[in-house]
Amino acid sequence: MSTTETAALERLKTALGPKGWTTDPAEMAPHLVEWRDLYQGRAAMLLKPASTAEVAQAMAICAETGTPVVPQGGNTGLVGGGIPFAGGEEVVLSLSRLNRVRELDPLDNTITVEAGCVLAAVQAAAAAADRLFPLRIGSEGSCQIGGNLSTNAGGTAVLHYGNTRELVLGIEVVLADGRIWDGLRRLRKDNTGYDLKQLFIGAEGTLGIVTAAVLKLFPKPRDVQVAVAAVTDVRAAVALLSLAREASGDRVTAFELMPRMGLDYVLRHIPGTIDPFAARHDWQVLIELSGGQAGGQMRATMEALLEAGMERDLVVDAVLAGSQAQAAQLWRLRDAMSEAQKPEGGSIKHDISVPVSRIPDFIDQASRAVIRLIPGTRIIAFGHIGDGNIHFNPSQPVGADRQWFLDQWEEVSHLVHDIAASLGGSISAEHGIGRMKREEIVRYKPAIELELMRRLKRSFDPQGILNPGKTIPS
Ligand SMILES: Cc1cc2nc3c(=O)[nH]c(=O)nc-3n(C[C@H](O)[C@H](O)[C@H](O)COP(=O)(O)OP(=O)(O)OC[C@H]3O[C@@H](n4cnc5c(N)ncnc54)[C@H](O)[C@@H]3O)c2cc1C
Repeated sequence: MSTTETAALERLKTALGPKGWTTDPAEMAPHLVEWRDLYQGRAAMLLKPASTAEVAQAMAICAETGTPVVPQGGNTGLVGGGIPFAGGEEVVLSLSRLNRVRELDPLDNTITVEAGCVLAAVQAAAAAADRLFPLRIGSEGSCQIGGNLSTNAGGTAVLHYGNTRELVLGIEVVLADGRIWDGLRRLRKDNTGYDLKQLFIGAEGTLGIVTAAVLKLFPKPRDVQVAVAAVTDVRAAVALLSLAREASGDRVTAFELMPRMGLDYVLRHIPGTIDPFAARHDWQVLIELSGGQAGGQMRATMEALLEAGMERDLVVDAVLAGSQAQAAQLWRLRDAMSEAQKPEGGSIKHDISVPVSRIPDFIDQASRAVIRLIPGTRIIAFGHIGDGNIHFNPSQPVGADRQWFLDQWEEVSHLVHDIAASLGGSISAEHGIGRMKREEIVRYKPAIELELMRRLKRSFDPQGILNPGKTIPS
């Protein structure tokens, strides 16, 4: 380490005090590796500021000394964006100690929270005030609001409530030079020029450090009905979604696709899960309808929808949850679909989106192409079909060598991404770019978009110290 680097670290230690930093390998270890072990890195120090002012002080020192900074929330990201590189000269800046709910206003229907608040804690704070914060993702017990904003997280309620981007009214950000932008407005309407907060949302820590946000709250739904319907095929699932939106007055709060093989994995590996159907069906969808009134019409609406689906030969069988516990059991089948893939060996992950109407074509074309390339590959295509977002995860053939299969990641991904692009889709629907897709986006994004991204990066972070090597292609 050079004398300048050592001097920078000494200044950071003094500014943040003994609780605000560590170089203890055991304490740093979980911040240097991603949960699937796909990415590992090293860092000169872990910074743990406790306030926006401390984040600003730390950034000012990093700017003066040219120290590269990797912002980190709950470290549940799936594209390696929060993990430092192997060089060891970066510092990781954890937002975990900025974890206060600053204010909740039931009349404005807003909650103002610091970046390090865990998503589940924000959901609970909203619920305690008889409100709903609708962002719902599998990692909600660990991921943090700052990470959710920085990745523009999606999840299972996007269909009705929108992505994180649509749930944010205001934002507080520490800029690359250490200045604080207090944009914590609660306005539903504000047409005073560029909507700057949106630039930081989904920027994966490359343009600034999010320290707080004003989030939208909603009335709590009082009548939530959950069903799993076995459908004739994926085309029938898309048609059923359209029917569900019409029949419920657009009260579909989740519509999730589950393939038979994915369900088999869950039933095999996740204790306590039960097959909802006596017979085997290739495709099923989990449907959630939510209404505002307790004891309202949603049950009748769901029953009518399933009946109409059967009459039109879209639905072949259906199970409607009779209690909250049963609804939770049905949700468990969907929620466990990611973790159930691990024990089956290597899995090549994709997070694509296409227009909803093109999903059947995408699944059909991509499945055939991958199986042609690697015969015996088991295709697990599941997820947020209501948003046109499919997690398309080819699983290794039974008995194949895991590493041999994973070594074909790039070839498989190009096939899958080319098909998504040819159908007007995106190669990253909700997980972001990070390290994983940084060079891959060059194949698909128009040159003019890449140029504008690079220009923005240069104007917000001229020294390139904010999360270097992530999101913006080299
Ligand atoms: C089981 C599981 C299920 C998941 N399901 C979904 C899902 O349904 N939908 C979905 O969208 N994602 C999902 N994810 C991915 C992940 O949980 C989300 O991307 C989440 O929003 C990341 O939040 P985090 O706090 O863990 O961020 P981190 O992983 O810590 O960081 C993610 C990125 O944001 C940057 N960052 C973090 N905090 C800040 C900050 N305060 N300011 C600036 N930059 C920051 C980091 O540098 C990094 O680039 C899932 C992950 C897991 C493990």
